[in-house]
Amino acid sequence: MTDIIKLLPDSVANQIAAGEVIQRPASAVKELLENAVDAGASQIDLIVREAGKTLIQVIDNGCGMSETDARMSFERHATSKISKADDLFAIRTKGFRGEALASIAAIAQVELKTRRLEDEWGTMIHIEGSVLTEQQICQCAAGTNIAIKNLFFNVPARRNFLKSPQAELRHILDEFFRVSLIHPDIGFVLVHNDKELYHLYSGNQKQRIVALFGQVYNERLLPVYQKTDIISIEGFVGKPEFSRKTRGEQYFFVNRRFIKHPYLHHAIENAFQELLPKDNYPSYFLNISIDPAEIDVNIHPTKTEVNFQDTKLVYAMLHGAVRKSIGQHNLTPTLDFDLSPDHGIDFGDISRADRPLRMPSITVNKQFNPFHGTEHTTARPSDWRVFFDSESAGQLPEERATDEVKPAKLDEGQDNRPLVNNFMQIQQSYILTRVRSGIMLIDQHLAHARILYERFMLQLSEMKSSSQQELFPVTIQLNPADASLLKELLNDLGLLGFNIGELGTQSFVIHGTPAGFDHTDPMAQLETILENFKRNQVDLQLDKKLNLAKTIALNMALKANKPLTEQEMSALVDELFACQVPETAPDGRKILAVIPLKDLLLNLK
Ligand code: ADP
Ligand code: MG
Repeated sequence: MTDIIKLLPDSVANQIAAGEVIQRPASAVKELLENAVDAGASQIDLIVREAGKTLIQVIDNGCGMSETDARMSFERHATSKISKADDLFAIRTKGFRGEALASIAAIAQVELKTRRLEDEWGTMIHIEGSVLTEQQICQCAAGTNIAIKNLFFNVPARRNFLKSPQAELRHILDEFFRVSLIHPDIGFVLVHNDKELYHLYSGNQKQRIVALFGQVYNERLLPVYQKTDIISIEGFVGKPEFSRKTRGEQYFFVNRRFIKHPYLHHAIENAFQELLPKDNYPSYFLNISIDPAEIDVNIHPTKTEVNFQDTKLVYAMLHGAVRKSIGQHNLTPTLDFDLSPDHGIDFGDISRADRPLRMPSITVNKQFNPFHGTEHTTARPSDWRVFFDSESAGQLPEERATDEVKPAKLDEGQDNRPLVNNFMQIQQSYILTRVRSGIMLIDQHLAHARILYERFMLQLSEMKSSSQQELFPVTIQLNPADASLLKELLNDLGLLGFNIGELGTQSFVIHGTPAGFDHTDPMAQLETILENFKRNQVDLQLDKKLNLAKTIALNMALKANKPLTEQEMSALVDELFACQVPETAPDGRKILAVIPLKDLLLNLK
């Protein structure tokens, strides 16, 4: 018998490779845009017809190619970006596998015009199904102009597999966004069926996000910046209050390459944890810069995945960076001032506001990080009035802030200091008070839950507790599952003020509870807490301490339908505004609403 193994002809090999690299028009868009970026272009135009099925054209003003290179670029494994195996660990370009143009040329009709700035003449090449049909010198602009016509013309199975034009265009837009978003220094244009969809001018990162996603993002972004020897993390996250019900703007890049990484995505989402209502997703636009030797991007043909040498470390840093950014974002002033607390980014906004400049010194502490408990309560509880109180409207915060008012405790009803403000309780559940621009409504239960939550987090992190001795220790009996969970939590519960001893396998004795704990039925209370803890653990996969603090805070917080004296309300509001996140409850619900006078006045008309 004769031998039967043969080498495949290049055109067939290329077509097979194309199956991996070019799944749909959007894949070709991605490869061509990336080549233009790698070529150092400062302007890239993308022209598409019929969602890329008949035409995908990319015009750049980058370095262009010589005559020989223009021909070589369509060969498989032909690349100018690496030349030896070691280079794989120093990749700073988007491409390096040298298979995109070869793949595209195998399954489409390609016209290329390219010229280096220093050359008098350019090169024109036509290639179709891997066969060169024309090559000649030509006149053309410096840079590269490449047109892909009739993608999959020779692979009907592929062509028929394409989705509706809307769906394919959506994929193209996704790729366009992923490249243009992270290269704000490059100008981009996108034209579809002769209609200009995007015209992006070079600018900074924030301007690019706004240009792509809309003007509203100008007020919605918080800067993230964290630099260490190994990596630096930079970009923006959406303020928690603008989170969305759909997974929307979530962009994660490594060395400016769009990457899908569920584990690191979790690091970011997790940082938002208790600040988002259930089922809401944060937006983020983050880039990690890291020494290419520390990563491997050559694990997937489309290069959208990456391996880190130390993923856990990257997780921790990413989580920390986002946490810090959210922490520094103290929303209080934005309730009444048209200011964005973006540090240094939006100072244009400050001068735009037609009010005297009276903000930053007190409420924005740039170093502040609420997730490091030790730095707790830098804001003075009475400061919030400076922003809200009508009587003090004319005064500067510096003057107001000098009268030190001690944080009033809820249970210290005897505080005789004069009230600057009046509080009114509505339906024994809400506190109504005046603020500069109108009125503010506060949910008393959620407000108290936030106060307790931050207090508990502090106790858990500082490892010091305060407990109130029970007059008569109470013995409780739990089912085996709850009993073993309780045992696991005893330490942390101790930090929160529960002094509970074990009495055999399923019995416990409660010697002490946190101040304010409802003593009427300690066993039922504890069972509810364990029940909610378990639910949070499953639904939200909360960290143990966070979960405990959240569960117990919501359990212990004073309830709706409880009458409060004016002094109690005043103390509660003071404590609320000493919190790091006064506007959101531990479970993500909104604690307060400001209704501007102008909105109220509409009802008079
Ligand atoms: P890779 O990008 O992985 O190197 P490609 O097949 O995408 O592989 O491109 C092959 C080569 O063609 C590149 O290495 C580059 O030298 C050249 N090339 C492709 N597109 C351009 C362009 N727009 N401008 C200049 N050179 C280009
Ligand atoms: Mg490439």
